[in-house]
Amino acid sequence: MTFDSLGLKPQILSALKEQGYTQPTPIQAQSIPVLLDGFDLLGTAQTGTGKTAAFTIPIIEHLLDTPTNHKRSIKALVVTPTRELALQVAENAKRYSSGTSLRTAVIFGGVGANPQIDQLKRGVDILVATPGRLLDLQGQGFIDLRNLTHFVLDEADQMLDMGFIHDIKKLLRLLPSKRQSLFFSATMPKAIMELSGQILKPNYKQVRIAVEKPTAERVTQCVYYVSKSEKPALLIHLLKDLEGSVLVFGRTKHGCDKVVRILDKKGVSAAAIHGNKSQNARQKALKGFKEGTIRVLVATDIAARGIDISGLEHVVNYELPNIPETYVHRIGRTGRAEASGSSISFCAADERAYLKDIEKLIKASVPLVEEHPFTEGATEEWAVPENRIPVKQGQRAPRTSRDPKQSAGNSRSGAPARGKRPSRRR
Ligand code: AMP
Repeated sequence: MTFDSLGLKPQILSALKEQGYTQPTPIQAQSIPVLLDGFDLLGTAQTGTGKTAAFTIPIIEHLLDTPTNHKRSIKALVVTPTRELALQVAENAKRYSSGTSLRTAVIFGGVGANPQIDQLKRGVDILVATPGRLLDLQGQGFIDLRNLTHFVLDEADQMLDMGFIHDIKKLLRLLPSKRQSLFFSATMPKAIMELSGQILKPNYKQVRIAVEKPTAERVTQCVYYVSKSEKPALLIHLLKDLEGSVLVFGRTKHGCDKVVRILDKKGVSAAAIHGNKSQNARQKALKGFKEGTIRVLVATDIAARGIDISGLEHVVNYELPNIPETYVHRIGRTGRAEASGSSISFCAADERAYLKDIEKLIKASVPLVEEHPFTEGATEEWAVPENRIPVKQGQRAPRTSRDPKQSAGNSRSGAPARGKRPSRRR
């Protein structure tokens, strides 16, 4: 399938060409036709699949098609959980509509509201927003949603995780009932399905882009057993060999800052992004990272969610997440599009249970790097479990698979046959 065959307007086609997109990604190929036909959409997909273009292109096409008396009024609203994602979506919408007269604006908290209010006063067709600032400015009378025709809720699962459910419900009461709604989430637990039921029309269409793909096929994974106190030394040691940008995940804001201080001392350019950083500091760090002036970005999960860094090669799980789905989100930051990526996890003794949960979710063992300088003094606690494929440091770890056909009992993937798995814990 090509973009030409979707019957898009020449302005949109040339904008896509300018981006260098030759062919739609699977989510685009599946979503664009049904959205152009006016159906509501439930999309199971995460950032990195091309979902932003999948929803913005049909919206732009519709807005260009619809003659309206309400020229500069908000006709499309995209709500995202984080400021970073809001900025990215708005950037994309601006790019794809660059050959049109449509105006896109983005609003989020953590920065002064006045420039955003000025933009709203000048008139906006497509508004991208985080929930808090959106409701705040709507409450102050700067946002009129009466002419809205398109509503997108992006990363709904994250929205719920961040406690935005009441804001979303409040927002829904402000939207005209006659509208096209799009609902995206990386995962679809019960609470998310219930929420989608309140937003989408009953005849909605569903598109599912497996989150497994980037994890299993594009990202090489490995894990180091290392004590908490030796994690900094191991990170510094690995950074000597790794090429390119490295995104390091920590569990706490304080922990992230600490890693940055350690790296700074060793002369590695690093910055942290997390909820305690000002919006400007976060944007500056992200910009530096994208441009390559900052080599290591140390982030908490919430701050990094949805961030699209093209060409990111390595993700380091400095601390393993206690929610296994988070691991999949984290490593999905690398191995985007056709690129391959690597994920390196540090697992301290008290994180073994997290690793076990992760492996259960991805239905594969994460290969263990058996020999590294920080295994010295290891007790039996660090012994290599039988079901692991030891990998020597510097050697590329084998890819893991989520395909149950491949992973069950497949010695290459390191996954033992069901019921035969030896316990990794003493
Ligand atoms: P998203 O999932 O929307 O964050 O998109 C992930 C990345 O894929 C972004 O850097 C997009 O610019 C890029 N992208 C989106 N659609 C295409 C396409 N059809 N061909 C190549 N790259 C794309």
